[in-house]
Amino acid sequence: ALLLFFFFASNAQKKPLYLDPKQPIKSRVKDLMDRMTLDVKIAQMCQYVGLEHMREAEKNISEQELLNGHARGFYKGLHSEGVERMVKQGVIGSFLHVLDVKEANHLQRLAEQSPLKIPLLLGIDAIHGNGLMSGSTIYPSPITMASTFAPSLIEQSFRQTALEMRAVGMHWAFSPNIEVARDPRWGRVGESFGEDPFLVTRMGIASVRGLQMNKFDRDKSVLACIKHLTGGGIGNNGTNASPVEIGEGELRNVFLAPFKATIEKTKPYSLMPAHNEINGVPCHANKWLMTDIVRNEYGFEGFIVSDWMDMESLSNKHKMTPTVKDAFQVSVDAGVDMHMHGPIFLDNIKELVAEGRLTEARIDAACEKILEAKFMLGLFENRYVDEKKISQTVFIQEHQQTALEIARKGVVLLKNKKQILPIAPQKYSNILVVGPNMDNQSIMGDWVFEQPRANYKTLLDGVRSLAGASKVHAVDVGWNLRQMNSDSIAKSVKLAANMDLIVVALGEDSFRQHWKDKTAGENRDRMDLNLWGKQQYLVEELKKSGKPMVVVLISGRPLTNTWLEDHADAIVEAWEPGSFGGQAVAEVIFGKVNPGGKLPITIPRHVGQMPIYYYQKPSQYSHPFIDGNKDPLYAFGYGLSYTNFKYSNLNCAKDLKYGDSLKVTVEVQNTGELDGEEVVQLYLRDDFSLVTRPVKLLVGFERVFLRKGEQKTISFKLGKDIFGFYDNRGKYTFEPGSFTVMAGGSSLNKDQIFQKVEVKE
Ligand code: BGC
Repeated sequence: ALLLFFFFASNAQKKPLYLDPKQPIKSRVKDLMDRMTLDVKIAQMCQYVGLEHMREAEKNISEQELLNGHARGFYKGLHSEGVERMVKQGVIGSFLHVLDVKEANHLQRLAEQSPLKIPLLLGIDAIHGNGLMSGSTIYPSPITMASTFAPSLIEQSFRQTALEMRAVGMHWAFSPNIEVARDPRWGRVGESFGEDPFLVTRMGIASVRGLQMNKFDRDKSVLACIKHLTGGGIGNNGTNASPVEIGEGELRNVFLAPFKATIEKTKPYSLMPAHNEINGVPCHANKWLMTDIVRNEYGFEGFIVSDWMDMESLSNKHKMTPTVKDAFQVSVDAGVDMHMHGPIFLDNIKELVAEGRLTEARIDAACEKILEAKFMLGLFENRYVDEKKISQTVFIQEHQQTALEIARKGVVLLKNKKQILPIAPQKYSNILVVGPNMDNQSIMGDWVFEQPRANYKTLLDGVRSLAGASKVHAVDVGWNLRQMNSDSIAKSVKLAANMDLIVVALGEDSFRQHWKDKTAGENRDRMDLNLWGKQQYLVEELKKSGKPMVVVLISGRPLTNTWLEDHADAIVEAWEPGSFGGQAVAEVIFGKVNPGGKLPITIPRHVGQMPIYYYQKPSQYSHPFIDGNKDPLYAFGYGLSYTNFKYSNLNCAKDLKYGDSLKVTVEVQNTGELDGEEVVQLYLRDDFSLVTRPVKLLVGFERVFLRKGEQKTISFKLGKDIFGFYDNRGKYTFEPGSFTVMAGGSSLNKDQIFQKVEVKE
């Protein structure tokens, strides 16, 4: 027995502590760090694009661009020549966009052959479902999610996304995007939760909770990545990555607010800075933002990953440093812990440490956090996934149902002339379905690669199944908005004369693999926000038939189609409603679902009105335009229902001491003929202040179901933070005095009832 004891004891000694799952994570990290050389530590900071994704990208990039790797971030021959070997050597710590489970297992197998056997951390842009991987459940885009005003449903979708990710070997979602999007010219509005900091915050918190769970679970959680820090949604002239000049008060009140609250409430494990500069300092070099504010003030404890080529951009786009090596130095020193893709980072960082321009302690701090994440995820124990089990989790019924439910709740009914909707199918025997977005993947939005046709339902599918296929006549005018087919347009117009209802699917093309032709999504900023191409012509021609026309907009951003008001009898803003979007929209059209979605972003009449977000300063309204209206086409929080809601008895304390919470109740009644859901919205105005405040700010909302005739009392309990704000010098402050509480079904005064409260110091 004694011999046996010595045998086990010496064996136990041989096994490194860091490979012992019973040890606390802190000790495991320390033990592993003690065994690592500087090179191997820096390697943990290096991320590369997956093999298949690289091959796909190579097909779409010119020889010249590939040779000049910096231009697009892809480097000729890199993957075929060396990446797999590098993984085996242990000089790569992470990958992004490994698009296939076989590749995930393959890369992990190579990593297990490396000297310290450190597993790879696999990250992916799972923005609304794990959409870059084929066969995943595609939930509606974040802008549609925000329209639901139902954070618990959104949390559920991110929870399911995390499970689908783990099932295919992914550990880290580059999500949620919690930028406040105030400029619809920006192509990325669709992947944002809209213009309001309060709504964005609620959705951001829900997303991180869904991904990471309240208590991180090694088998079921993935790392979240809150991004992009910050201001991308108000770049100069709306273009991606362009500079931002902003006062510190506005920066903190609006753009940093979602980051602060999400970090404090959910501890997201990673963060990504924005492409743009703020007040002259690019975010990837901004020590004040990343280290002083986010890490030290907000208590962020995870690691910061650079965005695509954004360290390099400090040199070649922002012209901050003469060399890329200098850029790496500035960026790592400012707080970035991991470099997204590219072969030169490791050697440059090594040199910078040797030259004394970066400390080893800085490298240790970055490496520790990344290793900690790998331990938290249980990857040292189990880095592989069982391909045979994928179908037990991915695209299962329950997930499909959530995607459908979000789409149903996210659809916003903008216009319903003479209550043409809902349509009773029996009233119509010939329905024309037409338009570039009637039958394609645009319903799924950006950050989605091609999905199996059987996995999604387009508007045409939806109308066919609800109205009966024999009644539906479809004309394909072409999906590509730059090349819509004139002959098919003419054919549809001719056919319209014999129809009794027209359903037109318009909008934008955000399909990622339409690399050059897509009109919305990342890097698709626009200066004009009217419907693209021949879409207006199509509607004008169809209108000549005199037949009732329902327009469905599939668009990742607000469009300024004022002319459409005179042409369409009903307008449905579906945004990008996901795998089952076509079904959800059809259910709204045919009355199986009573719409209750509300706009999370203002729809302008004209590009020249922008910025037109609802929380303007009072003086914004003092002068009119001489050549047009100043009010929006559709306001934030707006959305029609097939029933009506009446607000009454808004009650709250008349006097309050700053620091005490404010209890508010309001009665809402369904006064129409149908059951329905309403998003009860609560706003607050600081009536007078020495540093000016917005005319109103959303401070609470609740989505409620009310049967026909039913009345409910909705209660809100608001913390003191709704009265405080950051002043023009960035100092947190509170001015005592009178405030107005407003409740209603949109952000418009005409839809709200009011109450005053006096808040004393
Ligand atoms: C985007 C990020 C994204 C990254 C990786 C960048 O271009 O700005 O949001 O996570 O690419 O795909």
